[in-house]
Amino acid sequence: MNSAIKKVVIAGGGTAGWMAGAALSKLMGKHIEVVLVESDDIGTVGVGEATIPTLHVFHRLLGLKEQDVMAATNATFKLGINFENWHDVGKDYLHSFGFLGKDCWACGFQHFWLKGKQQGLVSEIGDYCTEHLAARQGRFAVLPNQDYNHAYHMDASLYAKFLRNIAEENGLKRIEGKITDVLQHDANGYIKALQLANGELIEGDLFIDCTGFRALLIEQTLNTGFDDWSHWLPCDSAIAVQTESVEKPLAYTRSIARESGWQWRIPLQTRTGNGFVFCSKYMSDDQAIETLLANIEGKPLNQPRVIKFKTGTRRQHWNKNCVAVGLSSGFLEPLESTSIHLIQRSIVRLMQLFPSQGIDQTDINEFNQQTKLEMDNIRDFIILHYKVTDREDSRFWRYCKNMPIPASLQHRIDMFSQSGKVYKYGNELFGESSWIQVMMGQGIMPKEYHPIVDVMEKDELSNFLNNIKTTAKRKVDTLPPHTDFINHYCKSN
Ligand code: FAD
Repeated sequence: MNSAIKKVVIAGGGTAGWMAGAALSKLMGKHIEVVLVESDDIGTVGVGEATIPTLHVFHRLLGLKEQDVMAATNATFKLGINFENWHDVGKDYLHSFGFLGKDCWACGFQHFWLKGKQQGLVSEIGDYCTEHLAARQGRFAVLPNQDYNHAYHMDASLYAKFLRNIAEENGLKRIEGKITDVLQHDANGYIKALQLANGELIEGDLFIDCTGFRALLIEQTLNTGFDDWSHWLPCDSAIAVQTESVEKPLAYTRSIARESGWQWRIPLQTRTGNGFVFCSKYMSDDQAIETLLANIEGKPLNQPRVIKFKTGTRRQHWNKNCVAVGLSSGFLEPLESTSIHLIQRSIVRLMQLFPSQGIDQTDINEFNQQTKLEMDNIRDFIILHYKVTDREDSRFWRYCKNMPIPASLQHRIDMFSQSGKVYKYGNELFGESSWIQVMMGQGIMPKEYHPIVDVMEKDELSNFLNNIKTTAKRKVDTLPPHTDFINHYCKSN
């Protein structure tokens, strides 16, 4: 199979398929033919509306204006996620996208804050972060001279449509039809063609599996294998329902822990996305629907839909001439809105390692190695939310609190609990500020701070902390209400 890649076939047209289609056709369409096959009968998973700030990188790659994306997808700004009842019932904390305070060369801001706490000089750590304060106060604007870390809540189906237009404008050919068979080359098992229900054969050199949980190519055809992580991430079901908006949209996602799972609330400009992620071992679908419907505001706009999934990852994300992108590659559950980010990372990684002159095992190994590292890190971050909790009020929470966890996560928890230090892997998605906010939010308060902080006298420390807090507050006070800015921004393009 060492021949040049001239034709790429994308199987599936959900968010993953259309993100891949838009990027490949726009950036590589001069060199390769790009075809996408999707089935109107099968449809998409229809969820996935909260994003994280890395999506800007993808939009920059495609040359998109933020206002255009937001106007086309009914989007609002997202500055973080508010975790309610996770540490314990009645307690909440915000994981914002901002950076906490200021670092010095030797240690992170948390060490200054920890000493300040011992001396009675501080308020909650989020007060030292602009995005955190802005989210709490519902204020936000994109300003030319200030770069606030933000993401979006957006309508997933409108986003796919928007990307489809870009892809088709750049020469991608869309074929509607149901894939009924996947044909392989006899010699090496590489995928040769997709067979459609009408008998048509779609041949290609490289195939991107975006068929969602079905994983039609990577698993059903190539039997790549799956590492099951449900012993660490036990939720396996979700109910989703959309409601009319009853209040101005918040600038953050709400994640509300309940007896056997958690509920999301994602505010768009004109409606709210609601869902309940739960563990079927402790709760039936009917109980889950009842729980969700009892905790929504506004009139439901559709019937509640049940979605089943298994958390874990494909053993290889690139196998032979097939690359899995999106849900076909694995799923970590939606708690930190990381799936669309992982889609984008796979697409960018594929383009960086693109096998123009033929498929090489070295590229495959590199792709798989990078993806594995990324998935492992995000997995640990998500498990942290379940594991570190004071909740013991249900079988589900007792399981989570007592479950064994990966050694890599245990190491991070031990290190932070003891000394306030945050273990860092090179290029991982969630930085120090994210780990600190979630570890403290879930109830870990480090025993010590870094001794270098002691070079500051009490007055100096107090001034240092107050300056950061006052600056953050001053910046937020100048921002308009989030919803006013959206109206102005989306209409000003
Ligand atoms: P799908 O949307 O399922 O698309 C599969 C495509 O394959 C469809 O076009 C379908 O027609 C096609 N297909 C399948 N079989 C065939 C066939 N035989 N023939 C032809 N076509 C076929 N991600 C986030 O980033 N943020 C979130 O807030 C978030 N929330 C989520 C909540 C839940 C409950 C779940 C389950 C996921 C969530 N995700 C979230 C993940 C996100 O929804 C997905 O990553 C994203 O939608 C991409 O899905 P996909 O394109 O891989 O699969």
